[in-house]
Amino acid sequence: MAKLKSKPCDRCNNLVDLRYRIQYESDGDWVMVCPGCWSQVSQDNPHYRYGGTWKAKKKSPAKNQAQS
Ligand SMILES: [Zn+2]
Repeated sequence: MAKLKSKPCDRCNNLVDLRYRIQYESDGDWVMVCPGCWSQVSQDNPHYRYGGTWKAKKKSPAKNQAQS
């Protein structure tokens, strides 16, 4: 099993390895949400804005060696 650096969703606090950077309130901050929350808050939402995707990086020392 690959070790991923999962991070918590800003909305439901589930640890996930894929999050979307979005705004979903008119005066809201940018938040990082999991795909589940993203589909909930983005639907029929005029305030929804998409700012990017965050993916967990695999922790692999062997790969770092190849990079340098
Ligand atoms: Zn969530």
